[in-house]
Amino acid sequence: MKTIKPEIRKRLEIAVGSTPLHDWKFKTVNLSSTKCECGQGIHTGYVFTNGTKDITVGSTCRYYFPDYIIANILVKISKDPSKSIFNDWLVISLENQGIINEWESNFYIDTIRKRKLSVKQLKCRYRINKKICKYYGLTCYLEDLE
Ligand SMILES: [Zn+2]
Repeated sequence: MKTIKPEIRKRLEIAVGSTPLHDWKFKTVNLSSTKCECGQGIHTGYVFTNGTKDITVGSTCRYYFPDYIIANILVKISKDPSKSIFNDWLVISLENQGIINEWESNFYIDTIRKRKLSVKQLKCRYRINKKICKYYGLTCYLEDLE
């Protein structure tokens, strides 16, 4: 991982203020963002929120926030919805937030580490991944399986 320059770090620290880093949750991807909180130009904005304030950062500065892991997983499944998010706790957290329902959560956890899925299961994983991506403002690149 690249080292963050002190001046960039300083700007991020100012933006974050007194809210602990763990309290900044990944909110959405904003494709129309052009500027990171550190001042650098960006193509894709990763939006983190502390509940009252949103911070938009680029693909490098997102690593400043512990919740970047979720952002990374979501970017991965948006590029290939046949991939699993491989994280039981994240699935449970998505269910607790009402982003996916209980059935979807159970299905996901049952098949989370399976690489070989039946066509029916794969369609289901696709559908759930797309639902999660849509919630976070990410567009899945692949078409639906038919
Ligand atoms: Zn930045």
